[in-house]
Amino acid sequence: MNTRKLILLPLAVAAAMEAGDRAGWWMEEPVRLIQTNLRETDSTLDARRLAEQVAAFPANAILFNMGGIVAHYPTKVPYHYASAYLPAGGDLFGDMVKEAHGRGIRVIGRFDLSKTQKAAYEAHPEWFFRRANGEPAIYNGLYATCINGGYYREHAKVILGEALERYEVDALFFNMFGNPGEDYSGNPLGPCHCESCRKLYRARHQKEIPAAWDEEYRRFMEESTLKTAELIAGLIHGKRPRTGFFTYLQQHTDGIMSESNTSVRRPLPLWPYSASDNVNRARNSERSKMAFNLCISFVDFPWRFAMVPRAEIRSRLYQSMAHGAGPALNMHGPLDQEDRSAVEAAREVFQWHKRHEDLYTGQESAARVLLVGSRRNSYRGLFRILTERHVPFAVADNLKWLEDGRKFDLVVAPDGVPEALEGYVRGGGRLLACGPAAPPFGVSGVVTRRPHTQGYWRVHDHSLLPSLKSTNVLMLDGEYSELPAVPKPVLTLIPPAMFGPPEKVWVNKVETETPGLLVTEFGTGRMAWIPWDVGGLYYRHSLEAHAGLVADLVDHLLVEGRQLLTNAHPLVEITVMRQRGRTRTLVHFVNLSGHSQTAYFEPLEMRDIRVSLKGAYRAARSAALGASLPVTAEGAYTAFTLPALGGYDVVVLE
Ligand SMILES: [Zn+2]
Repeated sequence: MNTRKLILLPLAVAAAMEAGDRAGWWMEEPVRLIQTNLRETDSTLDARRLAEQVAAFPANAILFNMGGIVAHYPTKVPYHYASAYLPAGGDLFGDMVKEAHGRGIRVIGRFDLSKTQKAAYEAHPEWFFRRANGEPAIYNGLYATCINGGYYREHAKVILGEALERYEVDALFFNMFGNPGEDYSGNPLGPCHCESCRKLYRARHQKEIPAAWDEEYRRFMEESTLKTAELIAGLIHGKRPRTGFFTYLQQHTDGIMSESNTSVRRPLPLWPYSASDNVNRARNSERSKMAFNLCISFVDFPWRFAMVPRAEIRSRLYQSMAHGAGPALNMHGPLDQEDRSAVEAAREVFQWHKRHEDLYTGQESAARVLLVGSRRNSYRGLFRILTERHVPFAVADNLKWLEDGRKFDLVVAPDGVPEALEGYVRGGGRLLACGPAAPPFGVSGVVTRRPHTQGYWRVHDHSLLPSLKSTNVLMLDGEYSELPAVPKPVLTLIPPAMFGPPEKVWVNKVETETPGLLVTEFGTGRMAWIPWDVGGLYYRHSLEAHAGLVADLVDHLLVEGRQLLTNAHPLVEITVMRQRGRTRTLVHFVNLSGHSQTAYFEPLEMRDIRVSLKGAYRAARSAALGASLPVTAEGAYTAFTLPALGGYDVVVLE
């Protein structure tokens, strides 16, 4: 950051200038990315043929292996190894840059500095990861390096220096950036006990590194990773100012990488909104950076050539596009795959993107609701409720928007409220807080936090909660915060009572005055607190009553009404986007109706989706139908009807 600018200019202007300084091709162009993750044996592949295939796909960017574990170019740097399969005098990466650039394709060079060969370990053991017993971590003959060691912190400068001087690469991507907690087979590695880590950890925490990962060590690793990222960002930007730094971090990068993937070891349910979640979060946490959500086409590492369903591939790519990123498809090896289904499925989406690429430049979220919070079940439950109820929302990991002038009508906090939101609510903002952790402002007198409880909430006020008109009770299963009684409570606790045998059910049931919801004014704002884990319960059970409670509170807090009203099916995801420097608004529709548990089938066609969007627009046009849609003004809203929806569409409003 240039501090001189900060002194002279208001924060928002300085932030925009800083962003402008680094806004490269990744922010300006409609990127369609193919990643062909190469083996060392692929060093003989035909770069011209691959570039032709990528161009014809049609993609305009390729993420292609460059160096690190295996260099696909004749590196001269000691302890950096060219592929043993690279033909004498050959330079696969150089050929790829030439063939790709000749066809207008951007090249992102992939590095993986997390492992290297035994000879490097023998010459520089201090560069490497150490288990608690002092042994190195070896996987398929490769030795794991340490993010705090000299390989990452010093030798990387030499490796990347050579790479950046030799090749006009458009960005560098780093895989496995940081010390992983486990190897590819899922065996835990434990914390690193190398000399560098031990010294740094002692200096910071005045104690030895723990035997297993804990919260303190996790933070130490995060800080260590960020420190190394800062060094590498500086190196790249110093050598080639127009080259981007991409990895799985929001800080110090130009492109924020993420993945939509599956794993046979991951507990179900599957998270069908992974691409929406990743891209929404990246684009709204760091608005000057691009998100690249890699659609991992295979099912898991041991089966890199067996593909997930076609409709799953397409839904991930559409979700990415609906939230402001381009489609990005990952595969192992070049495009000639053993199982062609993922490539075939993605090709249709890439073809759509190219036909309509004008829609995908400079996209930004226009949502008026913000969802904050980590990716736990509580968050995912709220994410689903907002999506299924068609409340357009942004996701952010930070509160930078408080300073950059962006406005939200409502903030939803699924599992804890950041203290920094106090000024926002006091100044007229609206907050929906969920979960047993008490908000740090606006509430007082919490009696205690009660452990896991299997009871109910009694519904008293059906006028505030019209969605609950068919029920008098809500399920409670989990912790809650006990609050003192309030006049006219909306919900009150029914503590656990007998539930079996049927003859004894509720025979000993009592009613209490313990409130299950607090709605209060705070400053000139308003907040509602549901002091139990409504999001986690919805994620697990999908009860209508839990979604209805949240939706009614959203409506209560949005005093000016919702941004968007629709009759769309809950499994049609709708996002509202704008484009930088243009006045039009884009409404994306992603049809997820073909998804059930781990299965993805073709979505069912939806008909006559009515939408009323806040704002005055003269015209609407469906990109999929290639047709104008009649618009009508309805007070503060403009209404249109989408007559038919297949898998995806964008309606452009002007
Ligand atoms: Zn270490």
